[in-house]
Formats: sequence, C-alpha cells, structure tokens
Amino acid sequence: MASIKVLEQHVADLIAAGEVVSRPASVVKELVENSIDAGATIITVEISSGGMALIRVTDNGSGIASGDIKTAFLRHATSKLHDARGLEAIETLGFRGEALAAIAAVSRVEINTRTQAAHEGTALVLNAGEALRSSPVGCPVGTTIIVRDLFFNTPARLKFMKTDRAEGSAVSSTVLRCALSRPDISFRFIKDGKTEYHTPGDCLVDSCIYSLLGRDIEAGFAKVELKDEAVSVKGFASKPDAARGNRTYQFFFVNGRAVRSLLLQSALEQAYKNSLMSGRFPACVLYIETTPASVDVNVHPAKAEVKFVSDKQIFDGVYYAVLSMLEQNSKAGEPQQQPPQYDFASIQSAPRDLFVSEPIKEYKSPAKTNMSYTPPPVRNISRAYIEVPDYKIIGEALGVYIILEYEDCVLFIDKHAVHERIHFDALKSGDYQPMSEALLTPVICRVGHEDTLLLEEVADFLDKLGFTVERFGEDSVAVRHIPADIGIGDVEFVLSEMCVQLRQGGALEPANLDKIYKALACKAAIKAGSMSDIKELKPLVEKVISGAVTHCPHGRPVTYRIPKAALEKSFGRI
Ligand code: ADP
Ligand code: MG
Repeated sequence: MASIKVLEQHVADLIAAGEVVSRPASVVKELVENSIDAGATIITVEISSGGMALIRVTDNGSGIASGDIKTAFLRHATSKLHDARGLEAIETLGFRGEALAAIAAVSRVEINTRTQAAHEGTALVLNAGEALRSSPVGCPVGTTIIVRDLFFNTPARLKFMKTDRAEGSAVSSTVLRCALSRPDISFRFIKDGKTEYHTPGDCLVDSCIYSLLGRDIEAGFAKVELKDEAVSVKGFASKPDAARGNRTYQFFFVNGRAVRSLLLQSALEQAYKNSLMSGRFPACVLYIETTPASVDVNVHPAKAEVKFVSDKQIFDGVYYAVLSMLEQNSKAGEPQQQPPQYDFASIQSAPRDLFVSEPIKEYKSPAKTNMSYTPPPVRNISRAYIEVPDYKIIGEALGVYIILEYEDCVLFIDKHAVHERIHFDALKSGDYQPMSEALLTPVICRVGHEDTLLLEEVADFLDKLGFTVERFGEDSVAVRHIPADIGIGDVEFVLSEMCVQLRQGGALEPANLDKIYKALACKAAIKAGSMSDIKELKPLVEKVISGAVTHCPHGRPVTYRIPKAALEKSFGRI
C-alpha cells in the first residue's frame, strides 16, 4: 500500500464540495439560504438548462463588504458562527461556511455585491475556485451570484446528472420550499426565461400558499394553531374531504427551515387516523417553532433533516394542533369558512422594517412571539352537544340512507356509518357503558390455544366491553355475557379480530385498541339493509346535524348533500 499523505487543498475542496453540492437544486438551496440569512425581502432565482448552464440568484439583502468578499469563498469562512457555543443556538440557515467555497470549486462563478454603506459594489469572477479578477462595479444594495457550467471540472459528477428537465423540476421544488418557508419574502422563480411562480411577500401564509400550491390546495386547508411553553405550531392542514392521494403536499418548517421528518409526518397522520380512508393523505404547511437549543440541525449535510431533543414534545405539539383543527372543523352543515387571514409577520419573521429602510449589518433571527392559544379539551370535543338546527326526516332509502330536508338541501346520511362512529367514540373515550346481556346457553368459540390464553389474559378488559369470557378447555372460550348491541352471530368475529390485534401489537396499546374498537363498533351498529324505526334514527340524525359526527371510524364521510339549487338546475328550473 502507498504511503499516507495529506490531500492537496483543491482535492480536499472538491471532495467537500460533493457533500454540499450534489446537483443544481442543492446549489440553489444554498444560495437562497444565504440571501435569506442576509435579510433579503426580495429574492429572484433564474435558471437555464435545468440549472446546469446557468443559475442566477439576486437578492436585496445586506451585501458583502468589498474587503470580505474573497474570504467568503474560502472553506469554513462564515459570518454566522464564531465558536462552539454558537452551534447550540443556531438561528441562521447557514453556519458551516462551506457553500460558496463548494459551489465555486465546481463551476464558474460571478458575484456582484454591495452593502448599504458602500458607494459602489464589488464584482468578483472565479473559475473552479480560483479568483480570476475583482473590480468595482455599479450595482444596487444586495447580491447577485451567477453560477455557470456546474461540474464542468468534475466529469464523474456530471455523469450523475439527470435530464435538464428533471434537474429543473428539482430546483423548482427547492425554491418552492424556500418560498413557503418565508411568506414575508417575495420570491420569483424564472425557468428558461419564463416566470414559474411569484409570491407577494406580504406576510400572509394563505396568499403565499395560493401563489405556490394553487387554489385547490389552499381552499382545502383549515387553520392550525397551537402554542404551549415548549413549542408553537401554526399553519394549515387539509380538511378531511380535501385529503390527497400522496404526501407531495406535506411541508414542515422547523424554526424557518424546511425539513423532512418521519416524526412530524407521523404526528400529522396520526391526528387524521379516524378521519381519513387508508390511501388518503393530508396536505399541510406547518411552521413549528421551538428554542434553537431543542433542535439539532447539524445532522445532515444539507441540513434537510433535524433531530429534536424531545421527540415527544414536538410530536404532541403537532398532533394536538392538527387534532384541534379537525375537531373544530367537524361541524357539519356549517357554512364553509373563508380561509383565515394569517399574519405571518407576528409568527416568525424578523421585524419587517429591519429589512426595509435600515442598512442591514447583521440578520437578526426571528423574534419569538407571545401569541397564546389554548387548545380546547381534545377528548370531549367530538361529543360536544351543539343546538340542533331545524330539519325534517323524509324517510329512509335502500335500508341504509336516512333522507332529510335540511338548510335548503336534501341530505343523505349513512345510518350504519353514523352509528358505528357513535359507538367508536364512546368506546374510545371510556364512556361506553354496555348493556350486558346474559346468554341462556354460552357461545363456545374455538379460537385455538394461543388465542384462548390471550383472551383469558384480557378478561377484565373484555368485561368492561360487556363480554364475560371464560376458558373452555385447551382451545376454546365460553362467552356468557355479550353487549346487547352485538348479535350472537358476531361474537366469534369480534373476539377473533381482537386476537389478531393483540397478537400483532402484543398488548392493549392505543393503536391496537382503536382497531379493536372499530371492529366492535361496526358489529354493534345498526345494520345496513334493514329498515329502522324513526325513533332509532333521530338520535343519529342529531349527532350529524350538531356536527358531532362527520366521518365513520374508517374515515368515510357519513353525509351526502344535494343543494336545492343543484336540484333546480337538474330540473331546468334555473
Ligand atoms: P454560511 O452561509 O454557512 O456562512 P457560505 O459559504 O454559504 O457559508 O457563505 C459565506 C459567507 O458569505 C456568509 O457567512 C455570509 O457572510 C456571506 N454571504 C454569502 N452569501 C451572501 C448573500 N447573498 N448576501 C450577503 N452575504 C452573503
Ligand atoms: Mg450559506
């Protein structure tokens, strides 16, 4: 083996560059983050040929003083971090001082920059990291960086690039995330000469979402807001009927930084657990704020992933924030609320006037706000009784659908689904008081040896649900009492379903319990296919009209409405 040598500086730089800069999108991310850190209020990103031929980022931020400009392109040169203690409290997007050096090492860079204090700007041209020339230039306050011929001197890297189209769309989604992260900054993205999007930078999250994600997504969102001592969660998430077929529109920002996080994704989706069908996913734009010391942003080369000191705190913050929104939005029959006007300035941006008139020496990171929000007590909201508006039951169709006249609409209600939900909520909240029925002859269920032992172990739990279950030989149980709502024929199904869940999860964990409750609620609910007495239907209707029930436990909607106007249109009346 050859002797060991320290690598030459430019080789080390090229290797380091590979970690930070892997494709045009990562270059754009670094440059835009620098502009944000520099306090810009207007940022324009322009690319051609997917960013391989040209990337230009222009901002109206602080600019770089002429004496600092060459230093900015050295590795580990940063104005944002001075010692190890600072690493605990990072409030800027950058801090490693690597990006400009890494980008310059693998491309041809031109920079024009001017600070407020300077009468003229400075232009610097670099080729593969080497400064070729520097000269004074007339330019506005701020910085423009042009990156040409990315990876021209690293042919191996060049081979990994996808088509210009694919690289261009990766850049587009990077800029989109940056723009969503800061509704107080106006972003413009131009691809091959054409403006793809432009955000107003008016501090309003909803107008930012509208410009970036379009009207449909914005209209399907409801406001999320929760603040406790440790974490604040604000933004928007889908109303259940506006859920999507994939996770493309889930955006999370932690202290202003776009992050990918399974923890946040799962907190979001758990909140929708009983409101969405499987295969449907909520969209969201959620801004999570916590103290810099409770997040480690130094775990990923591009800082796209973060680690939390307390996962539970963050999980709970997101989960309860979204759940409160869902509960509040589950009032059926209410007029659709206009998306709230949401003042982003008060959430996370630095004082706006800091960006506008004053010369900016140093970017101050977002000030924490004192906005307080007390979430409603979550457990009981879905059962809250709200005055019930007028309605008229017309009848029942096909043994399933209750038909009502209600608020200038004809409303169809799936009676089985509503009843199932009512049972499920009662079971979940611990309010279920089963009418236990003694059986003249016990039902013997041959569930096998393993399940016999399992059921014996959870006999107390079964008792609370209205089942008295005893062991009957090696592989069977005898059921002597059952809840009055359950038919004898369904006993074996319900017990087997419980065993399946218990075997999978091993214990009476909340996630298993939900599945057990769903099985029980389904069997206890009025069956579809049989006509019911009106007295039986009324309580179901009132649960729906009052907004207490909107979806069955599997996430299917329980109502379908035909507005009078739609009927009149079908009949050619209007
Ligand atoms: P980092 O962002 O980690 O500090 P970079 O290599 O990205 O490292 O940038 C080096 C330094 O150059 C920054 O700390 C900042 O002082 C300066 N800088 C880079 N881009 C800009 C910009 N658009 N406006 C003002 N200063 C900038
Ligand atoms: Mg940087």
